[in-house]
Parts: sequence; C-alpha cells; structure tokens
Amino acid sequence: MPDNTNAKASYGDDSPIAAFATTPGNSALTLIRCSGKGAIELFSLVFAPQKIKDVPGNTVIHGWIINAVNKEKETTEKIDEVLVSVFRAPKSYTGEDSLDICCHGGPVAGKAVLGALKCAGFRDALPGEFTFRAFLNGKLDLTRCESVMELVSAKTDTGRRHAVMRLSGSLFAEIDEIKKMLVQVLSGAEIYLDYSEDEISADIDEAAGKLPNRDIALQVLERLKKLAISWQIERLYQEGLTVVIAGRPNAGKSSLFNALLKEDRSIVTEIPGTTRDWIEAWVSIEGIPVRLVDTAGLRDTSDSIEKIGVERSQKLLQEADIVLYLIDGTQGLTENDRDFGVSHLIVWNKADLVPLPSDLTFLDNKVVSISAKTGEGLVELYAAISLQATALQATASQTAAAALGTERQKNLVCAACDALEEALMLAEKEEPLDLIAPLLREAVNALGEITGEVSTSDILEEMFSRFCVGK
Ligand code: GDP
Repeated sequence: MPDNTNAKASYGDDSPIAAFATTPGNSALTLIRCSGKGAIELFSLVFAPQKIKDVPGNTVIHGWIINAVNKEKETTEKIDEVLVSVFRAPKSYTGEDSLDICCHGGPVAGKAVLGALKCAGFRDALPGEFTFRAFLNGKLDLTRCESVMELVSAKTDTGRRHAVMRLSGSLFAEIDEIKKMLVQVLSGAEIYLDYSEDEISADIDEAAGKLPNRDIALQVLERLKKLAISWQIERLYQEGLTVVIAGRPNAGKSSLFNALLKEDRSIVTEIPGTTRDWIEAWVSIEGIPVRLVDTAGLRDTSDSIEKIGVERSQKLLQEADIVLYLIDGTQGLTENDRDFGVSHLIVWNKADLVPLPSDLTFLDNKVVSISAKTGEGLVELYAAISLQATALQATASQTAAAALGTERQKNLVCAACDALEEALMLAEKEEPLDLIAPLLREAVNALGEITGEVSTSDILEEMFSRFCVGK
C-alpha cells in the first residue's frame, strides 16, 4: 500500500487528497471529499462495484466502501454503504477528478471510510487545499476563494448574503475594472517614456502635469478609497461587535441579557458561567453578529474575589465596542452612574415601575428607556445599538460598487491607494515619468494580488492555511 503520511504534504501538488467536508457527529450523513490526479482510479480500489472507473462525470453512483487491505487477500469487508458523486476534470470544484462520498453519519462510519481511503493511497487534505487547487486550476480567483471561507464562517444572514455577492464575482468585477483603468494610465506613462521631452511636451495638457490620463488616475483613486471604506462595514458583518452590559448590582443586567436572547432566536452559542464568571452569547442585531456579554457574575462577596471581578469587568469594558450601561429606574441616577463614563449607551431600566424622567440628561448621551421585564423599549434599544454599530454604513453602502471581504484585500487596496497617491503627487510636481511609472506598476500589482493574478506561493500558502480542512 502506498505511504499516505502527510509528512511531505504540501500545497500545489496534484496528489489524491481526502477530507471530511462535514463535521462527523450525530447526523444522518457525512460527506467526504476526494480530489486529485488519478483519484477516481484510486477510489475504485475501495469501492464495489468497481465500474466507477468508467462512469462519466457528473454522475451519482451507489455502492459500498470496502476494505482495500482485505481485498488484496481476496476477502472483502464492507465498511459502509455510500452514494458517490463523480466529477471528472476539468468539470469539478477543484478542476481535477474528484468525488463527493456521502456516507452514513455518526462518529464512526465516516472515520472508517476515510481510513479506507487513506489505506488506498489518498492523503489527508491540508486546510483549504480543495479551494487552493480550484484557484490553481483557474476555477476561482482569490476573491472568490476567500468568499467561500467567509460563507462557511458567516455568523448572520447578512454576512452570508455579502459573501455570496463576492462569490458571484462582484468584487472581482470591480477590481478588474479598476485595474484595467490603471493599466491604461500606466501604459500611457510608459509610452511617453519612449519619447524625449521635446517630442511630447506640446501634447501635454499643462493643467494635468506630466501624467497622461491623469483624470482616469483620479477616478481610480476615488474608487479605491471607497473600496477601502467598505471594509469598515464588512468587518462588522464578519467579525461582529462585542456589546457589554454593565451597571450597578440589581440594575437588571441579567434580565436584559435574557430578554435580548429571548427576542433573538438566531443565537449561535451561549456560554454559561461555569468556566467564566460572566456570560456571553452571540445574537444577531440587524444582521450584525453581536457578542453579548453580561457582567452580572462579576460581583462577588469576598473582597479579594471582588477585586478580580472588577479587573475582569474593566478588561471586558475595554474590549467592548458598545457598552450598554443600565440604570436602575427605581434607584434613579446615582453619582456612581455619572462617574461611569461618557461613551456608553445609557439604558434606563425598570420603566414599567418608574418611567424615564423627561428632564434626565446623562452628559450628552441619549437615554433609551426599557423594561427588561416587560420587553418595552427593546425595539428602540436594538435600533440604538445598530445605529452606533453602523454609523458608517450609509456612506459606505451608497458609494462602493462592491465591498471588500478580508483584511488582506483591504491592505492591498490601501497599498494601491498609497502608490497611486504618491504617483499623482510626483506628477503634480512634474517629476519625470520614469519615477512615476514604477509607482503605477506597484498599484497595478497590488490589485493583481487581490484577485490572485499576481501571487507568490508563500502568500498563497499562508492564506489557504487559515481555511478549514475539507474546503
Ligand atoms: P443584575 O444584578 O444587574 O443582573 O440584575 P437582575 O437582572 O438580576 O435584576 C435584579 C432584579 O430586578 C430582579 O429581581 C429582576 O426581576 C428585577 N428587574 C430587572 N429588570 C426589571 C424591569 O425591567 N422591571 C422590573 N419590574 N423588575 C426588573
């Protein structure tokens, strides 16, 4: 049997690989994906009936995974009954021969099937290796590869929708168009480099300095800046916000936490205070994933513990993007509350018992009135949270034709912006074009790196290693 150890595994080869595409667990089915040169022939060693070798691509075939080791001894042991989707190169996700094996779920069946595949000679896929191969084989550009990862890790429906737009090519199209404009500016500059100053000076518009197509360069700069801004909003949808509920004991923090959870049925996780002394849960507020933290557990009786509690509380507050500071309506605003801070969303709780006094001001902050008990005011609270969270959204969504999906893309857009701004500044000073052209080239290359047209193997490996296995 071939050695299937992963010791020498590296991205960029086309050897047959296999991995779970779903997490094995308590489910009816598990999906295992295989891909690579000779994958179908190799798979036929562990599949009965063996006619799979001859089936055309895009075919689903029923059969059994059998133990390849026993098969050599002419005794076959059936491992699982499966349905296999067969794809032949280049018409597959990876562009290679590949198979999606749908086997039984549960903790054991899938592992046994994967074991049989490895015995046959498949090696474990590296993180993101299927998508990496799709990229190498020209099936997906890098923006689409990254959107696949965004899609599988989307926390809210809005996050999913944005990732799907990028998967459909919205970002690629925008970058491609901007890059074409920039190439026009670059080639304009390079053409002029072939002539002497005397030959071209008459053709150059005085106001435009020495850079031909300067107007186009300015349009490019504007579009790049809009793209860069779009990341500030996209980041919200992907990474989410930390919203911490704070306030004096009995202000109603736990009650509000529970009320917000009850309102929102799309909770991802709730981590009870068994290992931590605060409680957190993910909720979705207007499509933004929000990590909601209740600091109620941070007050304790004994002094030393209380000290630790206060320190933890302060750390959580520092981490917070938004702090909901609760005031106990029955107690009114105390000096303690006033000392607390400026940049928080102030929430008057227990409005069912004591309505918010019309003359209450808390520095310049707007005070939201709620009752965690009756649910009154929660809609307004949601609105206030999302308003704070998306202060930039209006500008970004109105202006950008597409939005960036990763920090990597944002860094490259900023690099392109910087190089272009410098080129324009030099042009303004009428510096020679042979100083300006390399900067334009740098900007073009940065855009090429976003889509993957320009790439180096170490950059790609670093990027794909952050993907999950089986993608
Ligand atoms: P925490 O210490 O800040 O977490 O406060 P709790 O959530 O434990 O609430 C303290 C007490 O206030 C409990 O008895 C709650 O039932 C009560 N409480 C919290 N919110 C409200 C509210 O909006 N209206 C009324 N009437 N009681 C509330």
